[in-house]
Amino acid sequence: MVTNSQTETTHTGMKGAEPVILVQEVHKYYELGETRVHALRGVSIEIARGEFVAIMGASGGGKSTFMNILGCLDKPSAGRYLLEGIEVSSLSIKELATIRNHKLGFVFQGFNLLSRTTALENVELPTLYARISKAEGEKRSREALALVGLADRISHFPSQLSGGQQQRVAIARALVNRPSILLADEPTGNLDSRTSVEIMDIFQKLNDDGLTVVLVTHEPDIAQYAKRGIQFRDGKIRRDERTENQPRASEVIKHLPSLED
Ligand code: ADP
Ligand code: MG
Repeated sequence: MVTNSQTETTHTGMKGAEPVILVQEVHKYYELGETRVHALRGVSIEIARGEFVAIMGASGGGKSTFMNILGCLDKPSAGRYLLEGIEVSSLSIKELATIRNHKLGFVFQGFNLLSRTTALENVELPTLYARISKAEGEKRSREALALVGLADRISHFPSQLSGGQQQRVAIARALVNRPSILLADEPTGNLDSRTSVEIMDIFQKLNDDGLTVVLVTHEPDIAQYAKRGIQFRDGKIRRDERTENQPRASEVIKHLPSLED
């Protein structure tokens, strides 16, 4: 089974193209006083540019640990991680921060917006860290908010927005520095089912435009919108398959009862 999934991984990569993400035999240990948690137990994955991957599996399986490593928020205890050909473990803290800011966009379950700050200002924040001019940062932020359907909400504070709208602000913020990869950990975990499909519609459209998307979800209904599904259990990959006939979220929405937004 493991051998099969590794063969499959090779097939999934685009011929000749350098993978955006190359993970080889990664292990992660957490030391907690006397105990040691072996959260990742030899994970190898290759993800090519333009893929849309859903990472699935029960709670405690190592999904978030793996995403934190992909996102350069944490380092493997052993094994290699190459992001666009760069060996991440060799980078300084400052270089890691630069990579996070320029190459990666993050979306989390809890949105993580600043509450006393408007939608526009929340989206502008990463452009400040990237030393993009105020005028250019604002222009890009407006464009990113328009892309997620929030052009008319830019002056709203998070408390004045629905959960789905807040998550769209978070997606705009993740996109504003034009990353090569979008990483999303349970992005629909706090949302109702219709709003979740709307978020998947945004991800599918971004992926159509060439963005590489890696999403964690424990809901098969959400995972089916991705092009590839990877199942984690007990810190290992148990399955790695292309998704057959994934539905278009934009079509599914048409048949769902509408809710108050
Ligand atoms: P998932 O996201 O699939 O639910 P996690 O990656 O969060 O799984 O957790 C994998 C394992 O690592 C679990 O046993 C969890 O308790 C443990 N773990 C996760 N984060 C930490 C941490 N910061 N310190 C210690 N143990 C952790
Ligand atoms: Mg998790």
